[in-house]
Amino acid sequence: MKCPFCQAEMSEGVLHAGSRYIQWKTVEKETGRKQEYLLAKSYMGGVKMEGHLCPYCRKLVLDLPDMEG
Ligand SMILES: [Zn+2]
Repeated sequence: MKCPFCQAEMSEGVLHAGSRYIQWKTVEKETGRKQEYLLAKSYMGGVKMEGHLCPYCRKLVLDLPDMEG
């Protein structure tokens, strides 16, 4: 997916909200190398959302999980 702000190719990955940090975990397409970006400090826990990240604009596009009820 292209970034809607700068048109660069976005990084596809998963947002992890742990007990202390919110991280973006992704695998580089060219090299297969795992990468982690620290996004924020967190006091939530256990949240995981798939989406796309632009490291140039520092924007995230997330797929929100279905809510039941
Ligand atoms: Zn961008």
